[in-house]
Amino acid sequence: MADVVCVASWNADLISQVARPIARGETLMARSFSISPGGKGSNAAVAAARQGASVALIARIGDDDFGRMGMDLWHAEGIATEHVEQAPGERSGVAQILVYDDGDNSIAVHPGAGAGLGAAQVQAAAALLANCRVVMASCEVPVEATLQAFQLARKANAITLLNPAPARALPDALLALVDVLTPNESELLQLAGPAHSGSVDDAAQHLLTQGVGAVLVTLGATGCRLYQTGQAPVALAGRSMTVRDTIGAGDTFTGALAAALARGQTLAIAMEWANAAAALSVTRHGAIDGIPAYGEVAALLR
Ligand code: ATP
Repeated sequence: MADVVCVASWNADLISQVARPIARGETLMARSFSISPGGKGSNAAVAAARQGASVALIARIGDDDFGRMGMDLWHAEGIATEHVEQAPGERSGVAQILVYDDGDNSIAVHPGAGAGLGAAQVQAAAALLANCRVVMASCEVPVEATLQAFQLARKANAITLLNPAPARALPDALLALVDVLTPNESELLQLAGPAHSGSVDDAAQHLLTQGVGAVLVTLGATGCRLYQTGQAPVALAGRSMTVRDTIGAGDTFTGALAAALARGQTLAIAMEWANAAAALSVTRHGAIDGIPAYGEVAALLR
């Protein structure tokens, strides 16, 4: 049994460093190449585990080297993998990432076996979901899987946490099952739709009227802001850090939030942990390498 269950995406990040964007039909020599663990769900699960939560995954990966890389990572982090399905003959998800000299990037993600994560696999984990405190997901997994997980979470009085990234339209039935939504600013504006994309305040209030319990929008270096029905927004300033790269900051935020909520913290306190954990993550390179441990976040908050 686990405190936090993550309906998770997994992919291997294939990262090439190139001088500039490549034109159509052009070939450019890359300066460097590396492969590292990725996927918003997996990253957030690792963040929750490093914050001390017991974590279990529901995921679907390929029967290939990249799938084994995910398994190795989760076992090293103490994350339970009984409900990770290794699909015979299928490939794991991959993200092909081009990082340019100016720090900008382009990414093509293919979910691979993750695209086949469905409601039946989630239902098979019903016992896990009936005994956890927090269930989290992102928009990198099929919406039917998240819907099924959140329905089971509601029955078990577990807190549901959705990171709506990458942004896409979500069914009303899913939004009504979300206790805490953690979009960044552009995801929030896209999710609220053109009629409510004039301001962060308007967009967040609109999502509350659609049944979302709380909207916790992340605002990069500026920090984050919490919206709940009938309450004034609560803003938390970003921490002043020396930034290396912001890869995985949003995933670290969501995972640390899940762990704090699973410890029984209020949303206002959990948000401080998430804001501090994400701030530490931007001081280091990479998604997984940037995720801090519980003690580091506690020291920053002291
Ligand atoms: P990413 O896609 O890079 O993972 P995101 O776009 O999902 O991130 P952001 O809003 O950019 O999410 O950042 C998430 C959180 O990370 C912020 O709310 C903040 O707590 C922290 N953060 C991000 N950038 C900085 C920064 N420059 N300094 C301090 N904290 C930061």
